[in-house]
Amino acid sequence: MNPVILIVSELNAQPLLVEFSRYQREYEVRVVRSVGQVTDEARQCTDAGRRLAMIIADTSLCATTDLADPDIGLLSAVHEWRQTVPTARLLVVSAFERFLSDSEQLRTAQARGKFDALLLTPRGARDEEFHTAVTELLSDWGATVVDPEVEAVRIVGDPDDLLTVQLRDLLVRMGMPHRVHDPESPVGQEIIAAYDGPSTLPLVDVLTKGVVAVNSVRELAAAFYGRPDQIDQDTVFDLCIVGAGPSGLAAAVYGASEGLTTVVLEAEAIGGQAGTSSMIRNYLGFPRGISGMRLAQRARLQATRFGTRFITGWDVVGLTPSPEGEHHCVHTAGGDVRARTVVIATGAAYRKLAVPGLEELTGRGVYYGSAMSAAREMDGLDVVVVGGGNSAGQAALHLARFARSVTIAVRRDGLHDTMSRYLIDEIDYNGRVEVRTCCEVIDGGGAARLEWLDLRDVNTGEVERRTFEGMFLLIGADPRCEWLPDELALDGKGFVLTGRDVPQDAWVEGLPPESLATSIPGIFAVGDVRAGSMKRVAAASGEGSSVVPLVHQYLETL
Ligand SMILES: Cc1cc2nc3c(=O)[nH]c(=O)nc-3n(C[C@H](O)[C@H](O)[C@H](O)COP(=O)(O)OP(=O)(O)OC[C@H]3O[C@@H](n4cnc5c(N)ncnc54)[C@H](O)[C@@H]3O)c2cc1C
Repeated sequence: MNPVILIVSELNAQPLLVEFSRYQREYEVRVVRSVGQVTDEARQCTDAGRRLAMIIADTSLCATTDLADPDIGLLSAVHEWRQTVPTARLLVVSAFERFLSDSEQLRTAQARGKFDALLLTPRGARDEEFHTAVTELLSDWGATVVDPEVEAVRIVGDPDDLLTVQLRDLLVRMGMPHRVHDPESPVGQEIIAAYDGPSTLPLVDVLTKGVVAVNSVRELAAAFYGRPDQIDQDTVFDLCIVGAGPSGLAAAVYGASEGLTTVVLEAEAIGGQAGTSSMIRNYLGFPRGISGMRLAQRARLQATRFGTRFITGWDVVGLTPSPEGEHHCVHTAGGDVRARTVVIATGAAYRKLAVPGLEELTGRGVYYGSAMSAAREMDGLDVVVVGGGNSAGQAALHLARFARSVTIAVRRDGLHDTMSRYLIDEIDYNGRVEVRTCCEVIDGGGAARLEWLDLRDVNTGEVERRTFEGMFLLIGADPRCEWLPDELALDGKGFVLTGRDVPQDAWVEGLPPESLATSIPGIFAVGDVRAGSMKRVAAASGEGSSVVPLVHQYLETL
């Protein structure tokens, strides 16, 4: 049964139906004439086992009312739809004459992600801009439904088995549509029959490679990209990039496109931290935001197109720099890779709270790192900042400009040991910021976004459930540098030093290394792993692209 697209319109129902007729081969397009009918229609869809892919609400429904009115406006309806069908994409369309005033009224709600996009109703045939936005939203919807219709990968096994769950996680992060089939089902039987080996589960049918038995996530990764020891022993790459987050991917795209032989070694899924973000809203050029998975997938395809070789599933465990300036050797448990230059792009891992319900809401009310970008979305809401360092203090003060209240939650009995005095004074002075000491977050949840948190008093054990619509976690990030050689200079927290920050005894002829060069010639560092980096996608990809001219410059000296 085709998924449903629901148009909610009164005056423009017919033109919108015509506009969406191009989707009718693969979706059922239905119309309802009032906001109130949507919830019933959505429930009927769900009860009948139908999937509601998108709701399109025409603002002219509210011709005589305030769109943002909490009782009767469109926003209260949109809020209800989100609860009823959290996966459906919500599109608001506005006629040309109303667009300016509508967007003015809906701006705050849009910034907060209350609906997915506000578009101008097409004014003529073939408005491909409009349809590109619709198709992107439908594509995002397709990537988040439990059982996709297109299956690039088919797994046969027990869906609750830990390895199967881990395999699915890798596939989700790589943007590969897949489904788990029961071994007794016809598809399961077909795949088992196609496997030429001893019976074992899970089996994975990888579209282009046939059926493979996998005992680890790494084996599935290897099925896609091969093993390091499959690279010819005599091959010396111009550029080896360790880590495939935004910085490593940008270095790969620029390096390979400029003719450098380029290999990327990635321990997990391509995309890094950014790949785990459900929606990146502040990356240049994506006005409706882009999911981290989609961004990573596009960058991976772009890099591959220019000839980058990817190897995923192997942690780099060591690096032997070349003493003679010939080539460096990068070690993995699956073999070594040789390259004239190495770019360290292994990022940082934000420390997590380890509360599963909250991890799922990352990007939807739960945020890691600086609060700069999401702060505006917190307008009028109650938010909590977890952490007692300077970054937490700054985030709390910044958030207090927008949020109704900001609670700083810290396990310690005060901020004095971890935060600068000036920040503590500002926080004391700020009526909107409350400090809650001896407190930890132990649980939380919400239907589509964060709605509540359980806070426990670490002394008494007493638990209080409170309403919070935003939580910012600033409990530290650890650089991933354990594999680097001792002679590579790091700062006190273990981040890689570059440029003028490199200790002077490693400078050559009194000159510091180039801005992204480390203390070892031919080895560079970009993105979050670099001391002093901005910890943002744009900054990381900017550094990844900026390192390539420095790589060229170094290669010319060899
Ligand atoms: C949930 C979340 C949401 C975010 N949202 C935003 C946002 O909306 N906007 C924004 O600008 N920023 C956001 N950020 C921050 C942003 O994602 C990071 O700044 C950015 O990803 C850093 O890129 P990077 O390439 O330096 O490192 P990373 O993204 O950390 O990538 C490093 C990669 O290296 C790999 N790696 C590590 N060690 C090894 C090893 N030994 N061998 C092989 N591979 C290794 C890792 O598996 C990883 O894939 C978010 C971060 C998180 C966690």
